[in-house]
Amino acid sequence: MQILFLGPPGSGKGTQCKKLSQQLKTPHLASGDLLREAVIQQTEIGKLAQTYIDRGNLVPDDVMIKMFHERLAKDRTAHQGFILDGFPRTLVQAKAFDELLKELSLILTVVIDLQIPDHLLVERITGRRICSNKGCNAVFHVRFAPPKETNICDVCGAPLMQRSDDKEELVKERLDIYRKQTEPLINYYDEKLLLRTIDAQGEPEEIFLDILTTLKNIDTVGTRK
Ligand code: AMP
Repeated sequence: MQILFLGPPGSGKGTQCKKLSQQLKTPHLASGDLLREAVIQQTEIGKLAQTYIDRGNLVPDDVMIKMFHERLAKDRTAHQGFILDGFPRTLVQAKAFDELLKELSLILTVVIDLQIPDHLLVERITGRRICSNKGCNAVFHVRFAPPKETNICDVCGAPLMQRSDDKEELVKERLDIYRKQTEPLINYYDEKLLLRTIDAQGEPEEIFLDILTTLKNIDTVGTRK
């Protein structure tokens, strides 16, 4: 299956995609993780992306399109399915992604939109802590999913840190950008009859079950049952 997730920052996309990736044994491609990795490695894309990420702005479309083109065209395992998280994030990216799918003879199976109101997102985002060990990628929350030992990763023991763009002053900006630039994709994929909506306000386990049920009701050529 080729699955695409939409949802504002803090909606739980990353958590759900990771679980789904393990369950379906399908690669999880998270644009934010790929960019943060590029920043740590100080690649050309990483150096350019850092200024945008640190300001809570979107990285330019052409950079994102090139990055995913290279990733999907090269990575043959992705041709057996992928879970996309964070790309596409603008209409320009979505149209380029359609072209890329055509070029690779792939069909998008479903787009899952995690819906949640803004007032719940701020605490979710500002309380998020990530493992500083780049190979680990574990995510915690000071209130909703605290680590056993304060500020220490349960998985690998490395210190936890807050993402530079999860600070309160940038959260509103990121939510505004989501509503203006990414939310139009909901209509775009709805018109293609690919959209399924999930209420993302509840417990992560319940949301995960909803996602699994949704996927069971879709056949592999993307037609709703
Ligand atoms: P995320 O981890 O998905 O919240 O992404 C973190 C940051 O990476 C975003 O705030 C953007 O600066 C950048 N980013 C991630 N995906 C994209 C994308 N598809 N287009 C533009 N910028 C992106």
